[in-house]
Amino acid sequence: MIKLILVMLLGWIGFTLFKKIINPTESNKISSGSGQKMVACVVCDTHIPESEAIIKNGKTYCSKEHSE
Ligand SMILES: [Zn+2]
Repeated sequence: MIKLILVMLLGWIGFTLFKKIINPTESNKISSGSGQKMVACVVCDTHIPESEAIIKNGKTYCSKEHSE
């Protein structure tokens, strides 16, 4: 029975570490007061909420002009 608990504990630790490796920005992402994720424009480095950002080819832009 103790063996089973140990295996489960190790599995949980492994899973937690695995999640951190997969998504390291999860715990320390830049967020505004509303908890919204902020992203930087690759052209002018302006930080804008992810919902307002224009994402093109995996890159984020603050405005339509910068995405072109
Ligand atoms: Zn920009």
